Amino acid sequence: VTELLDARPSGRPADADVDVDVLLVGAGPAGLYGAYYAGFRGLRVAVMDLLPQPGGQVAALYPEKPIFDVAGWPSVRGRELIANLVAQASPYAPVYLLGEQAATLRYDTAGAPVVGTSSGRTVRAGAVVITGGVGTFRPRPLTVAEPFAGRGLAYFVPRLSDYAGLDVVVVGGGDSAFDWALHLEPLARSVTLVHRRQRFRAARTTVEQVRASTVTMLLDSELTRVDGGERLEAVEVHHVPDGTRQTRPAQAVVAALGFTADLGPLESWGLALSARRLVVDTRMATNLPRVYAAGDITDYPGKVRLISVGFGEVATAVNNAAVVLDPTADLFPGHSTEREA
Ligand SMILES: Cc1cc2nc3c(=O)[nH]c(=O)nc-3n(C[C@H](O)[C@H](O)[C@H](O)COP(=O)(O)OP(=O)(O)OC[C@H]3O[C@@H](n4cnc5c(N)ncnc54)[C@H](O)[C@@H]3O)c2cc1C
Repeated sequence: VTELLDARPSGRPADADVDVDVLLVGAGPAGLYGAYYAGFRGLRVAVMDLLPQPGGQVAALYPEKPIFDVAGWPSVRGRELIANLVAQASPYAPVYLLGEQAATLRYDTAGAPVVGTSSGRTVRAGAVVITGGVGTFRPRPLTVAEPFAGRGLAYFVPRLSDYAGLDVVVVGGGDSAFDWALHLEPLARSVTLVHRRQRFRAARTTVEQVRASTVTMLLDSELTRVDGGERLEAVEVHHVPDGTRQTRPAQAVVAALGFTADLGPLESWGLALSARRLVVDTRMATNLPRVYAAGDITDYPGKVRLISVGFGEVATAVNNAAVVLDPTADLFPGHSTEREA
């Protein structure tokens, strides 16, 4: 995802005590499109994310997958969609606060929200739009390989080319494990998929594609040891039913064991919740003044969690926030076609 970081606009430096009109909490597709929309409305905007790169679930979990249901794109890879969202917002120079978790909310004497981050930064905003998706998501750890985190063990594969010529061991039996195995197979020296069971949770077509490839599948098996010096060199795989163990060369282990997600500190803000999502009205307003929400994190009867739905919701949220910031402003932003390119 380094390219995405390179693609991000220079923006103003992320100083302490940032002061903007709109703060988007979450740099997934909804948050990035919200940054465009706020800029389009002439508002100063910041986007915050705990992850070190923009793109939310799309960039972290499936950057190489083609997506078929984003309007106007018959097919677009996750990575390309996110790079384009960043580029679309870039004329408005959003301030990117990456690696920062929105932790606290208070209001200043003028009634403006002030968000405190996990690193002690404060962001004052005219309005906050929470585009936090499934919340803060963390990969389930592969404990045995943890000593090699960042030195061979990875939980996400942001850039396939980093694995060229390596012996890669993918651990897991779900969609992500099979996707990574399939995408790494053409460029890695070898790919081995290790899964604890015989059955998979992955899509049948992907399983068939992996079976037909050069990927070695070790089922009913688990990683029992990892060896190496400065970097990972080998893994030991235990075949549980017969107790046999084999050592395989591995310079990289990709652990795709799923992830846990939680709202984390947002839960203490006093937001109305429904099934651990944020309750919003038709303006995408939460129960808290000047706090809106959009994307996967919202809940209301009939809610559908898709990228396209998040785009619509965040446009609604930002336009409604714009009217609260300037009551003389129109809710309707005007057509983008009426603006100069
Ligand atoms: C494997 C897979 C395939 C998918 N395929 C499709 C598809 O084909 N089509 C489709 O429409 N959808 C698809 N989806 C769903 C789609 O990815 C989500 O609907 C979309 O990512 C939601 O966007 P979002 O911006 O609302 O949230 P997210 O993408 O979840 O981004 C939210 C961001 O908020 C950040 N965050 C949360 N809390 C905080 C906090 N307190 N402080 C700072 N940052 C915070 C998180 O770190 C995250 O980066 C798929 C999902 C998966 C997992």
